[in-house]
Amino acid sequence: MKLIKKPIVIVGAGFGGMTVALNLKKLNPSLPILVVDSEAKFIFKPLMYEVLSEELSMWETAPEFSNIFSNLGITFLRNCLTKIRFDEKILEFCDGLNIGYEFLILCTGSVSNNFSVNGVDENCYFFNNLNDLKKLKSLLQRFQNNKTKKSLFVVGGGPSGVEIACKISDIYKDKFDISIVERSNEILGRNKIFNREEAEKALERKKIKVILNSTVKEISDQKISILDDSEIKDLDQDVVIWTAGVKPNLPYIDEQVTQKDGRILVNEKFQIENHGNSFAIGDISIIKGIEDLPLTAQIAMQQGNHLAKNIELLIQEKDLLPFDFEDNGEMISLGIGEASISALGVTLSGKLAFEARRLIYASKMPDISKSLKSTASWLFQKNPRLMTLFIKNRKQI
Ligand SMILES: Cc1cc2nc3c(=O)[nH]c(=O)nc-3n(C[C@H](O)[C@H](O)[C@H](O)COP(=O)(O)OP(=O)(O)OC[C@H]3O[C@@H](n4cnc5c(N)ncnc54)[C@H](O)[C@@H]3O)c2cc1C
Repeated sequence: MKLIKKPIVIVGAGFGGMTVALNLKKLNPSLPILVVDSEAKFIFKPLMYEVLSEELSMWETAPEFSNIFSNLGITFLRNCLTKIRFDEKILEFCDGLNIGYEFLILCTGSVSNNFSVNGVDENCYFFNNLNDLKKLKSLLQRFQNNKTKKSLFVVGGGPSGVEIACKISDIYKDKFDISIVERSNEILGRNKIFNREEAEKALERKKIKVILNSTVKEISDQKISILDDSEIKDLDQDVVIWTAGVKPNLPYIDEQVTQKDGRILVNEKFQIENHGNSFAIGDISIIKGIEDLPLTAQIAMQQGNHLAKNIELLIQEKDLLPFDFEDNGEMISLGIGEASISALGVTLSGKLAFEARRLIYASKMPDISKSLKSTASWLFQKNPRLMTLFIKNRKQI
C-alpha cells in the first residue's frame, strides 16, 4: 500500500472531476482529496436549455460546490490553476497560492472555439457556461415586447445548435425568424439516426430554417457573411448564437505536455505521457488509440468512474486497467416539453422522452434535485418502458 503524504488534487469539478472525486471518496474514505474549481457552482450543462426556458430553475441545475463536497469529507477550494510544475509536483494558482500534490487529475473541460472567424468574439452569444446562459437570457428577454420579428442565427447544426434553436422558438414564439447555419450537408451528423430524424421533424414544425453546406466567414454587428456554393451572402442579423464547436480549456499547460489536436494526450489509463502520477480526463484529453470519442458528459463521467478505480489500484500498488467506452445512447431536447432518446435499444420521442430525459439527468445530479426527483414515481407507474430505460441508464454511466 502506497503512503499518501500530499493530497490527491482534482482540478476542474465538472462532469469528469466531480465523478472522480465522489467515486474515489466512496472507494477509500480516508484519502485526502482536494477539489479545485475556478467557479463556485457545478453546472449540469445538458439541462441549460431548460433553465433558459424556465422549465427548470437555476438552483436545480447549478448546485454550489461547497454544498456538494462539505458533507462528504472532500475539501473544496475556489481558485484558478495557472501553471503546473510537474518536476516538483507543484500547482500554481492565479492568486499566488502554490499547492503540492501526490496525484494530479486535470479535467478543466472546454471553451467555445471561434475558429478564428472575424467578429465572433465581439458580435456573438455563446452557450457553454453559466455566464453565457445569463447573458443570452437577458438579451432574449429584451426582445420580448418587440412588435417586429428579429433575425436570429444559430451557427452550428450539432446538438447544441439544434437544441437551442428549438427552445428559443418555443419560448419566444413569434419574436424571431430562426436559421441554423451548418457547414456540412446535414444537421446532427455525428448523432443517432433516430434523433436526427426527430430533430428534422421538430425543426420543420417550428419553421426553423436550416442552411446547409454553408460556412460563416465573418460576423459584424449587423450582418452575417455566409459562403454558400462559392458565393458570399451578407445577411441582416439581430442575434447570432455561436455553437460551432469547442476547444480544450488548457491555459495552464506548457510544452512539457504532449498534445494532439490541442488536447492532452493520455494513455488508455488516462496517464499523461512522461508524468505517470498525473492524469487528464473529459473534454481536455484525447486517448491514444481511441481518439475519435465525442466530447460528452457521458464519456467524462465514465472516465471519472474508471479513473477513481485506477487511482485506488495505484494506491494498492496494483496494475492499472485500460478504459473501455460503453455507448449508452443519447438524448436530445427538442423544445419545451419535447425530446428524443435513442439509448440501449429503446427509441422514444415527444413528451414522454422529455420526462425520461429529465429523470435520467436528475439521477446523475451530484445532489439530486428534490423537485425533479418527486416527479419520478408517477411517471414510472405510467410507463414501465421508461422505468427500464431509467434503471439501465442510471446504472451504466
Ligand atoms: C449546452 C451544452 C449541452 C450539452 N449537452 C450534453 C448532453 O446532452 N449530453 C452529453 O453527454 N454532453 C453534453 N454536453 C457536453 C458536456 O457538458 C461536456 O462534454 C462535459 O461537461 C465535459 O466534462 P469535463 O469534466 O471535461 O468538463 P466540464 O464539465 O466543462 O468541467 C470543467 C470544470 O473545470 C473548471 N475549470 C476550468 N478551468 C479551470 C482552471 N484553470 N482552474 C480551475 N478550474 C477550472 C470549470 O469551472 C468547470 O467546472 C453539453 C455541453 C453544453 C455546453
